[in-house]
Amino acid sequence: MERLKTRILEEASVLNQDVLKLDGLLNHQVEPELTLEMGKEFARLYAESGITKVITVESSGIPVAFATAMALGVPLVFARRKKTLIADPDAYMERVPSFTKGIVTDIMVSRQFLKEEDTVLFIDDIIANGDAARGLIKIIERSGAKLAGLGIVVEKSFQAGARTIREQGIRVDSLVRIKSLEGGTIQFE
Ligand code: 5GP
Repeated sequence: MERLKTRILEEASVLNQDVLKLDGLLNHQVEPELTLEMGKEFARLYAESGITKVITVESSGIPVAFATAMALGVPLVFARRKKTLIADPDAYMERVPSFTKGIVTDIMVSRQFLKEEDTVLFIDDIIANGDAARGLIKIIERSGAKLAGLGIVVEKSFQAGARTIREQGIRVDSLVRIKSLEGGTIQFE
């Protein structure tokens, strides 16, 4: 998406060689029109996949996942981050390390909202090492639902996340791929 690349160059700042600050577009402020465009693009890519639900992890994945669900005409489910130590028998739970916060959180999806008969499209904002994605993929697998693929807004392809997930045989589509942040410069693939 060329427009997204332009907006990233205008809005993003490189914090260090691994981290891009995208508060103006994804993590703090969102642009409704651009977000709707992203959703339409994911919906186009998965138009023939029989998607019954879009799924994401709160919170930054929600706007673009909502836009995708809207374009596909299906519900959106977002995995919630839980602080409780009590296991909920009615929920799927996974522990995931957070790339930016340096802490571990539990993500959970109620069994009520993810069923064996579902075909899901997993949407997320940014992929780095892929820990968050792998956590939700495990939950989807445990539910018996079919995972059609993973739609990512920004793939940092110099980190291993998306590659290792593709190696697992899972389809991954990224709207933009960044191959380097070295020297404070954003380089797209
Ligand atoms: P992963 O689990 O793939 O290592 O990291 C995924 C999550 O960490 C993303 O959903 C995103 O919220 C956050 N994250 C990873 N890398 C970056 C980055 O360069 N910039 C920002 N703003 N968030 C990031």
